[in-house]
Amino acid sequence: MDRTIFEEEHDHFRDAVRRFVDKEVVPNREAWEAQGRVDRSLFTAAGAAGLLGIAAPEAHGGGGMDDFRYNAIVSEVLAEADVLSAGLGLSLQADIALPYLLHQANEEQQARWLPGAVSGETILALAMSEPGAGSDVAGIATTARRDGDHYVVDGGKTFITNGQNADLVITAVKTDPTERHKGISLLVIEADRDGFSRGRKLAKVGQHAADTSELFFDGVRVPVENLLGEEGKGFYAMMGNLAQERLSIAVQAVAQAERSVEASVAYAKQRQAFGSPIGSFQHIRFTLAELQTQVDVARTYVDRLLMDHVEGRLSDVDAAKAKWWTTELCQQIVDRCVQVHGGYGYMAEYPVARAWVDSRIQTIYGGTTEIMKEIIGRSMGL
Ligand SMILES: Cc1cc2nc3c(=O)[nH]c(=O)nc-3n(C[C@H](O)[C@H](O)[C@H](O)COP(=O)(O)OP(=O)(O)OC[C@H]3O[C@@H](n4cnc5c(N)ncnc54)[C@H](O)[C@@H]3O)c2cc1C
Repeated sequence: MDRTIFEEEHDHFRDAVRRFVDKEVVPNREAWEAQGRVDRSLFTAAGAAGLLGIAAPEAHGGGGMDDFRYNAIVSEVLAEADVLSAGLGLSLQADIALPYLLHQANEEQQARWLPGAVSGETILALAMSEPGAGSDVAGIATTARRDGDHYVVDGGKTFITNGQNADLVITAVKTDPTERHKGISLLVIEADRDGFSRGRKLAKVGQHAADTSELFFDGVRVPVENLLGEEGKGFYAMMGNLAQERLSIAVQAVAQAERSVEASVAYAKQRQAFGSPIGSFQHIRFTLAELQTQVDVARTYVDRLLMDHVEGRLSDVDAAKAKWWTTELCQQIVDRCVQVHGGYGYMAEYPVARAWVDSRIQTIYGGTTEIMKEIIGRSMGL
């Protein structure tokens, strides 16, 4: 189905991203999965290619283009090359963490942190989740006690993407443990501060290139100049940035589903059984016809939200709808694509097999399907 949201400059950008992905990502994917993390050079290469700070001001090395279609193109090209689902950490940096520096950081902080984040010299992590609090962000227990011109941070985080590689950790802390939402603030914590340590790189069922980790804070002294935004306003800042995070995940879900269908159609044309290509059996043909229809319908909604976002009117509720619906759909589609591939669909060398395990997380991170439905239900007055 033709898409109508892109202009000529987006097509040129897509070609450039394809060259970057072919050169810098595809040849390394297997090695990164084997070592359980990407090399830091991925980030500097992505920074040099202009992929990490598209929306950042040019004065700080960014592209100066507040147009999320460019970010979407990066995810789509990674999916097309069968490397999106490996867990590269690029979208965490560019789509999810960077907005905190763009929207919550003051000028001095932007001058300090943006150039590195945009060039990829500085790898970002966003640390909200804790062993005892994931969906219930207001229930976090990591504290930041004010002591003169510093905060003293104690606690621990888990499931943190880019956890081993990160240089700067945007950390949700309780500055007022007696409060829930109003007690949360955001501190940017440099990974070389005394008392900060990285725990286990967690063994996951999929996304093997992602260094999803535990992080610990033991009396870490952080200067007040590292407070992002106002004290006590961290929860609201996080909620403000989550619509883009959820749209980013929805874009990835549709791109992954589309790629898996495409691979399955190609497979169905060449795989023979009972003397015919399996795609000639009505069941397989109908299955793939259904899946392609679902991808097109999902994409139409997500493309509309991309334009809403470009025009500054993406709503939290619409982003929540896109997030839960496309990620649940992606799982169903990829699962049926595995079936079309037969036994080969279970072999890790086949992209569809990797996508099957890798994309399972999509309905959980960035807010679970159930939390998305809570947001939507509340907006309906329920
Ligand atoms: C690979 C990976 C990468 C991640 N990256 C990051 C990261 O970079 N930074 C970060 O901060 N976090 C990250 N996370 C954490 C992720 O955001 C959380 O796992 C997620 O928000 C769910 O929290 P939880 O695991 O504590 O589950 P819980 O909140 O304990 O939920 C358990 C179940 O209960 C359901 N549930 C909870 N509350 C309700 C409710 N009110 N109504 C109905 N059902 C409910 C949930 O939907 C879920 O099904 C990552 C996780 C993974 C696995």
